[in-house]
Amino acid sequence: MNAPIPIRIEDAGCSSGEVLRQRGQREVFCGLTGIVWLHRRIQDAFFLVVGSRTCAHLIQSAAGVMIFAEPRFATAIIDDRDLAGIADAQDELDRVVVRLLERRPDIRMLFLVGSCPSEVIKLDLSRAAGRLSQRFSPAVRVLSYSGSGIETTFTQGEDACLAALVPTMPEAAADAPPALLVAGAMADIVEDQFRRVFDELGIGPVDFLPPRRANELASVGPNTRVLLAQPFLADTARALENRGATVMPAPFPLGEEGTTAWLRTAADAWGVPAERFEQVVAARRERARRALAVHRERLAGRSVFLFPDSQLEPPLARFLSRELGMTLVEVGTPYLHRQHLAPELALLPAGTLISEGQDVDRQLDRCRAARPDLVVCGLGLANPLEAEGLTTKWSIELVFTPVQGYEQAGDLAELFARPVRRRGLLAA
Ligand code: SF4
Repeated sequence: MNAPIPIRIEDAGCSSGEVLRQRGQREVFCGLTGIVWLHRRIQDAFFLVVGSRTCAHLIQSAAGVMIFAEPRFATAIIDDRDLAGIADAQDELDRVVVRLLERRPDIRMLFLVGSCPSEVIKLDLSRAAGRLSQRFSPAVRVLSYSGSGIETTFTQGEDACLAALVPTMPEAAADAPPALLVAGAMADIVEDQFRRVFDELGIGPVDFLPPRRANELASVGPNTRVLLAQPFLADTARALENRGATVMPAPFPLGEEGTTAWLRTAADAWGVPAERFEQVVAARRERARRALAVHRERLAGRSVFLFPDSQLEPPLARFLSRELGMTLVEVGTPYLHRQHLAPELALLPAGTLISEGQDVDRQLDRCRAARPDLVVCGLGLANPLEAEGLTTKWSIELVFTPVQGYEQAGDLAELFARPVRRRGLLAA
């Protein structure tokens, strides 16, 4: 067995480095996109977008695979009468919700999801959610959040959704024993794997946010220790802290190293002895390392440029650099939450160029000048860059695919290795 990779979070890394801040034209999806993975996660929830036909098209095309299943999202279209103020949009919304809930008695949680048009006409969805919740409670809880693309990026939809859930979490008893809350949507299979590891480590009780079912919301209070499973949950973390919970800073569970550091943070908080920790994770770490070795051969020494898109970029950059040996040209992120990302920044190679926000033309110029071996970017940039002979990876795939944890480390590496392999075949 290989020796464990030492993790020294106190390493200087990029923690103190300069960040290039850019404010200009951006190329990102809006927060409605989060519905595509959130509706799979909370199995008795329904997401009603209050938006335009454009919003409906976005959701339909992003989640096109769902046309064969019972849909758990839809769009209430704001039409010309609403925009002109002729119709009372609140009354119309009530009618749509009543019809929906009559038809779908399986719905236990209904999210009214705001959009650019609903924000432009200042439709107060929180008022609507409060009114409808009173009417349909306790059978259905109605909540609201914004998925609008105005000044936001697509993963903020999940952050807004989870932050909306936090006030509805029950209050934990003041003398309750410490409890672990893992915040951030992950695939069920990944959650099950982590549950087994926490169980073997003797860490518990463990809850996940969002839960699989509306009535499984964890209680929260000063005894709650939070591990973020996603780096884009600034509002959710703040809402949990406002309820008394403590967010434990940790690298994110991407790759063998990130997963180990993430689990170790919880293990340390629960006082799990180091030998016990090693016993539980050793075989899993080894499997992950073996899975990564195949891809490291293909990717080591190659350069990668990450455009700002999902906010997963800093942890991905750490993974690509430290576990796959890639050279980081630029690590863009829409927002850099220094506190949550401190453990990640400490693990990036010193001098890594980190950019926050976007001025897309300038960033494209930097990318073209560098001619990286791989570009991680949104769909809108991928095709033009491919046409220019660059190799790209769609960053949105990284949130649709189970990538966290030991068992997925190889799959995560494969997502980056595949386009490089394809380019090699085309060039041969
Ligand atoms: S919310 Fe805004 S950005 Fe998103 S699809 Fe609707 S109009 Fe477009």
